[in-house]
Amino acid sequence: LPQAQELQKPRLLLMGLRRSGKSSIERVVFHKMSPNETLFVESTSKLRKESIVLSMDLEIWDFPGHLDVDDPSFDGEEVFGGSTALVFVIDAQDDYLEALQRLYTTVTRAHKVNPEISFEVLIHKVDGLSDDHKIETQRDIHQRISDELADAQLDNIHLSFYLTSIYDHSIYEAISKVIQKLIKQLATFENLMNILCSNSGVEKAFLFDIMSKVYIATDSSPVDMQSYELCSDMIDVIFDVSSIYGPDTQDATLSPSSNPNPGNGQGHAVIKLNNGMVLYLREVNRFLSLVCLLREDNFEKQGLIDYNFRCFQEAILDVFRLRKHGPGALKDKYSH
Ligand code: GDP
Repeated sequence: LPQAQELQKPRLLLMGLRRSGKSSIERVVFHKMSPNETLFVESTSKLRKESIVLSMDLEIWDFPGHLDVDDPSFDGEEVFGGSTALVFVIDAQDDYLEALQRLYTTVTRAHKVNPEISFEVLIHKVDGLSDDHKIETQRDIHQRISDELADAQLDNIHLSFYLTSIYDHSIYEAISKVIQKLIKQLATFENLMNILCSNSGVEKAFLFDIMSKVYIATDSSPVDMQSYELCSDMIDVIFDVSSIYGPDTQDATLSPSSNPNPGNGQGHAVIKLNNGMVLYLREVNRFLSLVCLLREDNFEKQGLIDYNFRCFQEAILDVFRLRKHGPGALKDKYSH
């Protein structure tokens, strides 16, 4: 029988002081709220649990800023157990010493309960900082927290740092990376994407969770911010247009899956750019789309690319079937 931990959904814990920006991050990334509207968002006042990144069955838990992890009523086992990423948000525009203190107590407590937990520190609201100031702030925060952990002989605890803002793509990029650490099949996805790219003349490809616009995998060539932004903007353009002008406009504002043929895995779109590159989007299933960036002359062999894509799509869907139903799911397919 599966262990209780395996039945638990992987989750992302959003923690940090009040007004650090937790609710705003959640609204902007997972609910498509525009950043300016977050000025009026109510600060997180009680624990909220929500399913996000539907393709991966991932939950987000948004904690109130006054949460005290040392309070006896706080159930550390329940919160920190299982497959979990702890995202700690620090307001970089404010004095962060208190936040660092809280980060330290949270990290040490969580690590005691679950040494497998991944710690992700968002140095947030960096839109107000100059480039030099950003780097200096990150260095300072890294140094202070490492010193404290070293003093307590806990330097085996690893923390990752990200500079983020809801006013640009940096928050999506950071959340994407955090989520990828929770995906057990990441290496398989990456491998499949490498094969697809090298056989189809694709320069860069992202597998996007459509609703949240986080990417759950990419090929192993380095991610440059500009291609990521282009691919992510394409998701917005295509799904906005298709939800407004698609044949079935009823409920169209609810989700891209209210398209006439939800998730039939056939949807695709092409955008030719003025620099000789092409953006090519293909729907994988109801929740996932692949977006590729490639040179226009390579796109002339679209038949080949489409054939390779179908093989890729089949393999990805097999991975999901395996995840859901275990090895038996593919018995018929591969038994000969
Ligand atoms: P919470 O208490 O941690 O949930 O914080 P909120 O989400 O309520 O955010 C507090 C304030 O910070 C709000 O007025 C947001 O508009 C603002 N905020 C959040 N993220 C950013 C950001 O990236 N840059 C800037 N400049 N302000 C932000």
